[in-house]
Amino acid sequence: MSSPEKQHDRVAELANHLATPEMIARYEPVIGLEVHVQLATATKIFCSCPTGFGAAPNTNVCPVCLGMPGALPVLNRAAVELAIKAALALNCAILPHSRFARKNYFYPDLPKGYQISQYDQPYSEHGWVDVTVEGARKRISITRIHMEDDAGKSVHDGFRDSDRYSYVDLNRSGTPLIEIVSDPDMRSSDEAYAYLSEVKQVLQFIEVSTCDMEKGHLRCDANVSVRLKGAEKFGTKAEVKNLNSFRFLKQALDFEIARQVALIESGGRVVQETRLYNPDAGETFSMRSKEDAHDYRYFPEPDLVPLEIGPDWLERTRAAMPELPAVKRARFLGEMGLSEYDADVLTAARSTSEYFETVARVSGQPKMAANWVMGDLMGTLKAENKEIADSPVSAQHLGELVKLIASGELSGKLAKEIFPKMFSTGEAPSSIVEREGLKQISDTGALEKIIDDVIAANPKQVEQYRGGKTTVVNFLVGQVMKATRGQANVAVVGDLLKQKLG
Ligand code: ADP
Ligand code: ZN
Ligand code: MG
Repeated sequence: MSSPEKQHDRVAELANHLATPEMIARYEPVIGLEVHVQLATATKIFCSCPTGFGAAPNTNVCPVCLGMPGALPVLNRAAVELAIKAALALNCAILPHSRFARKNYFYPDLPKGYQISQYDQPYSEHGWVDVTVEGARKRISITRIHMEDDAGKSVHDGFRDSDRYSYVDLNRSGTPLIEIVSDPDMRSSDEAYAYLSEVKQVLQFIEVSTCDMEKGHLRCDANVSVRLKGAEKFGTKAEVKNLNSFRFLKQALDFEIARQVALIESGGRVVQETRLYNPDAGETFSMRSKEDAHDYRYFPEPDLVPLEIGPDWLERTRAAMPELPAVKRARFLGEMGLSEYDADVLTAARSTSEYFETVARVSGQPKMAANWVMGDLMGTLKAENKEIADSPVSAQHLGELVKLIASGELSGKLAKEIFPKMFSTGEAPSSIVEREGLKQISDTGALEKIIDDVIAANPKQVEQYRGGKTTVVNFLVGQVMKATRGQANVAVVGDLLKQKLG
């Protein structure tokens, strides 16, 4: 399937075969998400193997993450600290006592035969995030967050039956994860999309995770059911596993909603099961009937002591967190007087917000700083396919440029010419101004000479002016600006001209 649009059309078309829009309109979807996030630690959660991406298969492994009998796990302090930061940023309570549990199941890429997770005592619960969908603000509750280790990866290869192979790569085995479980609070695929965006943005902002979906650092399981509008009882849910893009999340939900409505409308019943989404077909399909918690034979992990997060550790971790995007946004709106739109754009990423704050501080002009960051800077970065972190124009230098405009030393027009030069050379604006002699000319002595020349060269216009057609002065000002390559101070030129002509 080629373009996203085409793909979405296909989803819409399939869903229409399943249920008419009228049918779907009679039902209300109920959605809860389970989001897995890879914590950005240097080493794994229970051993000191590196977590780096892209190493040769089965090279970042040791007896612990290979699941050798007798090898003992030791909890990584850095992983707990990132998990605490994530929970605080998502407004969750941190539980002082929690413990790990074994979740037993067989999978070829799970050599231990169990995952170390948290079950009856997670480290965190009762959080929330606010989302905005079509202008309406809504709070989505988070049930709990727990820590766990990741499994390895199975890699399937080959096309014909005769040469089809599956390989196991255990580099990922033991990578630290948190699982964020939401309440069933979402009522549309758009709300689910907005919730996942918000979670991703916050966690990236506080550098708990890169949340790179292509690398599997953020993965989402979507639970969805439908009920007749007005009904109180939730319907039976299906779970769509391993959604690895925002687009697929929305498409899978829309398909699943239509499928369930059609099923119920035709007299059938939704069964509780685990499904997968096939993006090429735009359909979900059944993978297995849903396992229940008791199938996993959870029991407390005997190789790890319970986790205690005392007040000192909690406060130290809290103090080491950057200002949260929501707090920054409020400050940009209030203290700095930015518009909602500007505040949204400038707090979308930590790097952007910090860059902007430096420009605003150096220039003392928040609004003008916002315009330059969002306009010339972001535009040029985008055109050059660069991230703000790699910007050749430092925030300090852009701040100096804005300050030169605000103080009248540079016209806006000249600044627009200087900016690309800053971008290509990485130089300070003052060095460029100096070298190219681009300073605004306000010195009357220097301007008078040029004005005299312009008056002498345009006798006809001078005559018109003196005859009462005073608007001609604009033409003469334009001639002076041209002669100075835009460097003359317009206000001073206007005054001098009127003096000389009048
Ligand atoms: P399970 O025991 O089947 O894993 P949980 O109660 O742990 O179910 O919930 C898993 C996820 O499913 C949570 O995100 C929750 O909000 C969501 N969920 C629970 N019931 C429903 C429902 N009826 N419809 C949609 N989502 C649901
Ligand atoms: Zn290891
Ligand atoms: Mg569950």
